[in-house]
Amino acid sequence: MQSIYFDHNATTPVDPRVLAIMLPYFSEEFGNASSFHAAGRRAAEAVEVARAHVAELIKAETKSIVFTSGATEANNLFLRGCVSFQSTQSQLTQSQATQAQPAPTPSAHLITCKTEHPAVLDVCEKLEAEGHDVSYLSVDATGKVDPQAVHAAIRPETVLVSLMLGNNEVGTLHDIAAVGAITRAAGVVFHCDASQAGGCVPIDVDALQLDALTLTAHKMGGPKGIGALFLRRRKPRVRIEPILQGGGHEQGIRPGTLNVPAIVGFGHAAELASQEIPARQAHAFALAAEFDRLILAAFPNRIVNGHPVDRLPGNYNVTLPGISNRTLRERLPEVALSSGSACASAFQKPSHVLRAIGRSVEDSQQTLRFGFGPTNTLEEVRWTVQRMADIVAKL
Ligand SMILES: *Cc1c(COP(=O)(O)O)cnc(C)c1O
Repeated sequence: MQSIYFDHNATTPVDPRVLAIMLPYFSEEFGNASSFHAAGRRAAEAVEVARAHVAELIKAETKSIVFTSGATEANNLFLRGCVSFQSTQSQLTQSQATQAQPAPTPSAHLITCKTEHPAVLDVCEKLEAEGHDVSYLSVDATGKVDPQAVHAAIRPETVLVSLMLGNNEVGTLHDIAAVGAITRAAGVVFHCDASQAGGCVPIDVDALQLDALTLTAHKMGGPKGIGALFLRRRKPRVRIEPILQGGGHEQGIRPGTLNVPAIVGFGHAAELASQEIPARQAHAFALAAEFDRLILAAFPNRIVNGHPVDRLPGNYNVTLPGISNRTLRERLPEVALSSGSACASAFQKPSHVLRAIGRSVEDSQQTLRFGFGPTNTLEEVRWTVQRMADIVAKL
C-alpha cells in the first residue's frame, strides 16, 4: 500500500475539476478584476460567478461575501473589525453626550469558547491585551457549549459572540441555531467559524440566524490561501471597520488586488460541494463507522472523542489508552494523520480541545485524529487498522 491521506481536517487535496477551472486564470485570463478593459471585465465576471457559488453554499446573498486570504484572515477581520466599529460607534455617542470631549476608546465584551481554533483564540487574547474583555465558555465532555451559557454570559457591553460550527480536532458541531436565536433576541452580533463544516454539512445562514461566517477553500477541495467572510447585509445589517487600508476592493472591507485564480477555484469547489454534500457525507460517515468498528475490535478500551452524533462526517478522533501516538505515527509512515490539530502537533503541546473536554495531558499523548475525505476508500481504512493492530502487537 502506498501513501494514504487521512488528514482532511488539516487540508484537502485540490479537486482535479477545481484545478482545471483555475488554470486559464494563471495564463490567458490574467486580467486584474479592477481594470475597466475587456480582460479586467472578464476577470471581474469570473469573480462574481465564484462569489455567487460561495454564497449559494451557505444560502446567503451574493453581495454579502467578502473574499479574504483564508479563514485566519476572515476571523481576524471580523473580530477586530466588529470590535473597532462598535467601539467607534459608542465613542461617538459618548462624546456627543459629553459635548465632544474625546472619550477613551470604550472596552468591548466578546464571548467565545475554549475549543475554538487559534485563529479566533489568539485574536481574542490580543484584544484582551488591548483592554477588551473576553469570556471563554466551557464545553461539556462531548465538546458542546450550552446555548444557555451563551445567554447567561451576555452583558450590556457585549458586542459579539463567536462560536465555531464544527470543531477541527474532535469534530463536534455546536447547536448554532439555538445560539443564533439567543443572540438575535439580545441584539448581539453572532459570528461562526465554519472552516471545517463548510462544504461538509449543509449551512443556511438565515435558518441559523448568523450575522457573520468564515469559510476557507482548502478544507473543501479548493486551493489554499483563499477564504471568505460572510457579512449579513440586511435584517440586520452588520457593519465592521476594515483592518487593511488601500483601495476600494470588496466594498472597501478588504482592499487588495483579487486573487482571481484562487477565487475561481474556491467558487467551483463551493459549487461542487453544494451538489455533492449528501454523497460526501454518506461516504465519510461510512468510512468513519467502519474505522470505529475495526478499531473497537482491535483496541476494546478505545475512547472516541467528540459528540457521538452531532459531528463532522469525516472526523474520527480516538484515544488509545497506553499507546503513544508518537510511536504509532513513527511506525506508520504510510498514513498521513495527525496527533491533534495540525497547528498544535508541530510543537507537541497538549491539545487545548482535548483538555477542555476533560482528557488528561497523558490522554492527549495517546490520541490520534483521522480525517476522511471523498477520495478515501474502505480498503484504506481496513489496511490502516490492521497495520495499527500489528504495530501495537509488536510493541
Ligand atoms: C483550518 C482552519 C482555520 C484556518 O484556515 P486558513 O484558511 O488555513 O487560515 C481556521 N479555523 C478552523 C476551524 C480551521 O479548521
